Amino acid sequence: MNSASVIDGKLVARQVRRELRTRVAALKAAGTVPKLGIVLVGDFAPSEIYVRSKERAGARVGIEVQTARLGTKTSFEELSGRIRTWNSDETIHGIIVQMPLPGHLDESAALALVSPDKDVDGLTPTNLGRLMAGEPAFLPATPAGIVELLARGGFETAGRHVVIVGRSRLVGKPLANLLLLKGDRGDATVTVCHSRTPNLAEVCLGADILVVAAGRAGLVTSDMVRQGAVVVDVGTNRTEHGLVGDVDFAAVSTRASAITPVPGGVGPMTVAMLLANTVKAAEAAPRE
Ligand code: NAD
Repeated sequence: MNSASVIDGKLVARQVRRELRTRVAALKAAGTVPKLGIVLVGDFAPSEIYVRSKERAGARVGIEVQTARLGTKTSFEELSGRIRTWNSDETIHGIIVQMPLPGHLDESAALALVSPDKDVDGLTPTNLGRLMAGEPAFLPATPAGIVELLARGGFETAGRHVVIVGRSRLVGKPLANLLLLKGDRGDATVTVCHSRTPNLAEVCLGADILVVAAGRAGLVTSDMVRQGAVVVDVGTNRTEHGLVGDVDFAAVSTRASAITPVPGGVGPMTVAMLLANTVKAAEAAPRE
């Protein structure tokens, strides 16, 4: 029985971090310490885990990370005050507002306050618009990580049919736009599916590259995957069996030619690309 090769996100993320360390050293030699500011509101446990992994990863490449931990009852005015302060602080090069925010805070409105020049999550309307216009600046980290993983693994997207399951602002929609860009990391034919797509299995079967970002454990089974397809599993679902993706890994591995694991696939790449955006922001920042 065939078994897919496993696309090792940890390994590729390590390569990316190694390259970043060289760029950070050059920045520091020129007097700039790259710094990332994270705003974390409330006590949502998974967010605390993500923020800690960003802090650790930042430290590993020499980026300073400052986290503002704000209480669950923080008002929108307090949140916007923090974002505005960092927007005008020249020592902070990148700003992240960790999602999700507590229900009383408008996530879209908060994101829109982040200066596009410091928007290392690439999620402000300005940077999403630039991507759609074909003039990308800061790319959203997860889609950028997926494209980086495919490119470094030698999986061409040009002329391939990529099916994306999920249409979120964070993953599905920006990824579709990224893969539609002209150039050797794009030039794909892209289909985006979502919760109202009636014939999901049939559409997925048409994919040369299948990217699943639905947040539904076990959604993609082997009968939905074409023999030899490349499968990228973005999903992270906490279950009684631990962290699992959206793809039935064992069964799909018998049909796919390559597949990303969960954990150890897209996740480490997301963090690495976020750091890459921070270094890029520090490199672009005006110097005295
Ligand atoms: P979301 O909930 O905002 O969007 C999910 C999308 O999937 C929606 O567009 C919805 O229409 C679609 N969907 C849901 N059920 C479906 C179904 N049965 N059939 C077809 N489509 C369906 O989620 P998100 O923020 O895009 O995240 C998706 C998943 O990816 C989550 O598990 C999240 O934790 C994970 N994620 C992982 C990383 C990482 O770095 N590994 C980063 C971001 C998100």
